[in-house]
Amino acid sequence: MRPSKDFVQVAMPGFNRAGDIFQYLRDGVPRTRIELAELTGFARSTIFSRIQTLADAGLVMNVGDARSSGGRPATRFAFNPSGRVLLGIEVGAERTTVALTDLIGQIIARVAFDHPPTAGPTEVFDRARDKAEDLLESTGDRSKDLIGVGIGLPGPVERSAGRPVRLPTLPGWDGFDVAGYVSRAFPVPVLVDNDINLMALGEQRTFWPDTKNLLFIRVASGVGMGIISSGALQRGADGSAGDLGHVAVGRGSDMLCDCGNYGCLEALAGAPAVARSLTGSAEADVANLIVLGQRGDVRASTALRQAGRDIGSVLAGCVNMLNPSVVVVSGPIVEAGDSVLAGIREVVYKRSLPLATARLTIAKSQAMHDVGVIGAASMVAEHVLSPLAIENMLAAARLDDGAPVAVSA
Ligand SMILES: [Zn+2]
Repeated sequence: MRPSKDFVQVAMPGFNRAGDIFQYLRDGVPRTRIELAELTGFARSTIFSRIQTLADAGLVMNVGDARSSGGRPATRFAFNPSGRVLLGIEVGAERTTVALTDLIGQIIARVAFDHPPTAGPTEVFDRARDKAEDLLESTGDRSKDLIGVGIGLPGPVERSAGRPVRLPTLPGWDGFDVAGYVSRAFPVPVLVDNDINLMALGEQRTFWPDTKNLLFIRVASGVGMGIISSGALQRGADGSAGDLGHVAVGRGSDMLCDCGNYGCLEALAGAPAVARSLTGSAEADVANLIVLGQRGDVRASTALRQAGRDIGSVLAGCVNMLNPSVVVVSGPIVEAGDSVLAGIREVVYKRSLPLATARLTIAKSQAMHDVGVIGAASMVAEHVLSPLAIENMLAAARLDDGAPVAVSA
């Protein structure tokens, strides 16, 4: 029987260092065991045995021999990103995406399914579990290789408990134990976070790995921002950092927002608001707005550019405050041509301080639709590939093999 993850909480003295040695290989550079001994300062005998353990666990692979000036060529080892797999799940108001990824967040297979906005968490996660099991099976029975699940939810999340807090788009989910429920189906670490935080993480880790300060803006029905500062995701005290949608914009003092206030950014620049401003009707046709914008329709482009200026007026303050080097913009209205981005650039470069914009790049999302699941997988990868998590994974594997181990309490 597989031990519960609570059973092996503390790394064992005999195992430690495998997790530490693994960290040196995560950059993907192949190294010989001698080079690793020099790099880490550990005894060669330690390196030899731990590399073997990591290779047996599928985390490290032999990548051929190093050139040698004489004597026996030395075998080189490198991180094996496809040796184990992760699941990234992005829950939306009416659509959920499940992706199977490798350990660096590259998608192996993905599937999405629609559900009514009234669907409860057990219904959505039971269907996600079935889809995930299909993905694991259809890609070569990889269930045994699964080491973590990351989940993004459309709203604030109490991260330590893995529970949503008052999701505006999913009523009835408040306080549901998402991590606990999903780990019953998949007994591996399950981490839950706000979807825009995960999109920021996915975009930065995948496309801007050398950028330590990045803001990710998503403009859909709401407007949200994920903040990466000094290389780390910033969630704020209660997980609601970056909620730009209800920041007041001077121009909209007569625009009533769903939250009850007037002049909120999302009441002016959210995708449904822009679509309504075009037709003048209460019905929002965002799909039509995208088509018109892509065609270069003058009225649509003008409305989109104004939405960009409104977003820019709030974003300029964020740029002054946080000094990012990259701002990434995503969401349906960004797909409607370049007018939104042009409006954002116009205001941010005019209103932010010169020092904050001297080397600022404002770009469209490169990951677009997959960024949420890539980010969910990236979040859980960081957790399960940490030194302690690696030690625990190796210890659990030994327990499964029936090998005697001493577990410290
Ligand atoms: Zn509001």
